[in-house]
Amino acid sequence: MEYGPAPESAAPAQQWIATHSGAFDLYIGGVWRKSVAGETFETFDPATGQPLAAVAQAGADDVEAAVEAARGAQAAWWELGAHGRARYLYALARQVQKHSRLFAVLEALDNGKPIRETRDIDIPLVARHFYHHAGWAQLMPTEMPDYQPVGVIGQIIPWNFPLLMLAWKIAPALAMGNTVVLKPAEYTPLTALLFAEVCAEIGLPAGVVNILTGDGSTGALLTQHAGIDKIAFTGSTEVGRLIRQATAGSGKKLSLELGGKSPFLIFDDADLDAAVEGLVDAIWFNQGQVCCAGSRLLVQENVADRVYRKVRARMETLRVGSPLDKTTDIGAIVAPVQLERITSLVQQGQAEGATLWQSANTCPSTGCFFPPTLFTDVAPSSVLAQEEIFGPVLVSMTFRTPAEAVELANNTRYGLAASVWTENIGLALDIAPKLKAGTVWVNSTNLFDAASGFGGYRESGYGREGGREGLWEYVKVKERPKTRSASIATPKPVAKEVLPAANALPSIDRTPKLYIAGKQARPDSGYSIPVLDPQGNVLGHVGEGTRKDIRNAVEAARGAGSWAKSNGHLRAQILYYLAENLAYRSTEFAAQIARMTGQNHATAMQEVDLCLERCYFYAAWADKYDGAVHQTAGRNVTLAMNEPLGVIGIACPTESPLLGLLSLVLPAIAMGNATVVLPSERYPLAATDLYQVLETSDLPGGVINIVTGKRDSLAEILAQHDEVASVWYVGTPEGGKRVEHASTGNMKRTWVQDETQCDWRDSVVGQGAEFLRQATQVKNIWIPYTDEVSW
Ligand code: ADP
Repeated sequence: MEYGPAPESAAPAQQWIATHSGAFDLYIGGVWRKSVAGETFETFDPATGQPLAAVAQAGADDVEAAVEAARGAQAAWWELGAHGRARYLYALARQVQKHSRLFAVLEALDNGKPIRETRDIDIPLVARHFYHHAGWAQLMPTEMPDYQPVGVIGQIIPWNFPLLMLAWKIAPALAMGNTVVLKPAEYTPLTALLFAEVCAEIGLPAGVVNILTGDGSTGALLTQHAGIDKIAFTGSTEVGRLIRQATAGSGKKLSLELGGKSPFLIFDDADLDAAVEGLVDAIWFNQGQVCCAGSRLLVQENVADRVYRKVRARMETLRVGSPLDKTTDIGAIVAPVQLERITSLVQQGQAEGATLWQSANTCPSTGCFFPPTLFTDVAPSSVLAQEEIFGPVLVSMTFRTPAEAVELANNTRYGLAASVWTENIGLALDIAPKLKAGTVWVNSTNLFDAASGFGGYRESGYGREGGREGLWEYVKVKERPKTRSASIATPKPVAKEVLPAANALPSIDRTPKLYIAGKQARPDSGYSIPVLDPQGNVLGHVGEGTRKDIRNAVEAARGAGSWAKSNGHLRAQILYYLAENLAYRSTEFAAQIARMTGQNHATAMQEVDLCLERCYFYAAWADKYDGAVHQTAGRNVTLAMNEPLGVIGIACPTESPLLGLLSLVLPAIAMGNATVVLPSERYPLAATDLYQVLETSDLPGGVINIVTGKRDSLAEILAQHDEVASVWYVGTPEGGKRVEHASTGNMKRTWVQDETQCDWRDSVVGQGAEFLRQATQVKNIWIPYTDEVSW
């Protein structure tokens, strides 16, 4: 039976636009202001192509004013206290609910997505996000007593979930005491402007939320502004890359939620009808314009034809049409340029030989529409399988075994989400940890909730939004009065000319090599670097590592994959054993440190003692850094698992040569990562003396690799390496900038610290939760369960 039309009236949204005379200014410091340059642009209804309103294009002066307003408001917003902020966030949640229909209609008009989705999914999730974060605001003093806000946050969001992305950004930022300048996407500014009105309506203090409309150039101005302490971005990987480069060396915190090409795996024992229904949500929800869309169907070969038949039959029933019709499944593509991109990728796919199938249902002849599309016979390397299409286009491949399924699933540069369909819970929970993705939905898809973190692995970005894990993006450790100078800075020695004494026998040379894959390895360069004491006497030489040595070290670290799978108890045992072997030689290590740095023996001994304590500290954590079970809405168990990142490159500080190194390496390996370590360039012998300790501690080869040489150049090489998942750099601001800039190849995480600010001897800042968080990424695995009544 055919559905009749069930149109939702656009009148309330049109009236709202009309009350603003069809033109909107910028919301800065609690008032509406025209852009200084007076520029505007139009936003369109993509379903009809008709203009909806004119909005201001914010330029440099406007960005300046908005940042100033946010800066001016920040201290008072933080000092308002937890309960005060909770009250405002609660008020925002209530207002979103009160105006929910207006928000839903306006969103459907401006974006082209079906009203059913905005009404039933987007807007309820927005309200939920503000409620949830009203709670976090209230709980901040007890749950995060050692943290304070980051400051002023620049937030740049995309057009696919305009209000939802706004909520994901603004709610946690405000809860943690920050103020924000947010730029909505140029195609979809209207609900953000309505939200600004809501902020005014509840009397949110002026300057706490500032909304700047504009295109990418406004976004670029925000990312470059020195008055912004953190950038939170959601959008394409290309723009994410530009933002990483633009903010390199600026000291700004950065979180990026980028593109995806998420796999949707159907095993032969799955409930195929449920899986096909899931697939509809995975790829045809929001016209496929979803960063975590299940756009790659991977289906077990023996059920592939059956699945394709069911998918095609279901596609025939999908209705493409007016976003404001409540029976519409698939609305309009956001803008002509996106439609062109989808069309062009589909044509490329056909040219590459993939088989296209589209339903007989026709699209409206005007406006931006694209029919639901299925591609079969897709090669894993084809453009269809690799590029994010961001449209209603599903591409399918088959697999035979679970191992092959995992391999195909991970054969992408992205890592945002994945769906796994099987009735075998053992198989599902074996596969989920092997998938390189921030979210894994078991027998479900596209489930979101404020209580669960969301975010990517690999080129899908870093940082999490939602849940407790999302809050860390918006806080920093409380500044503490320094108890002592940050580090014991020793003067840089100058080499003396060393002439051999007449007739003296040459001493037995001790030039340690590099340490790669559990063995000492000669540096590829064949060069060595002298190590001097403070008087300029040569204490020894170390090898000068090169790009080739870094490659070998990364290869060795990748080969140590079983370390990640080993359990925490085993890792703890090895760290204790390492402490035991270090303790056995502590006097020797202290003597070496004293010789190199010129410190007295007692101070050097203190450093070694602290190293032993740190071994115990991370041995203790190795089997205790638990994940969580999130209380997500709906009938789900959501497991938030802390997973290692893979290979971490670690560039160590100059001073505290042993303690600095171990403070960084121990948390990394305790959490199951393998490391490539660049020790203190000036005092490398503390690291090279460790080789024997490592060799006698049962640490598998490849878990710690040590490459001596020019720290900053080697760190940059590590940052360029695509198999390195994160680089921790403790050194100079210039070196940190090089690392951040070079990290954009695979969009690796970076953690950069100024070595003059790090006090490794302080047991509050030199060890702890921040190190464990940097060493892990949270994967949320959603496992729905059936309602009792359906049994
Ligand atoms: P999408 O592919 O989802 O359109 P984009 O990455 O192009 O994503 O856009 C996401 C957001 O980033 C939008 O608000 C856009 O205006 C903004 N943007 C585009 N270019 C830049 C840039 N160079 N710097 C900062 N923001 C930008």
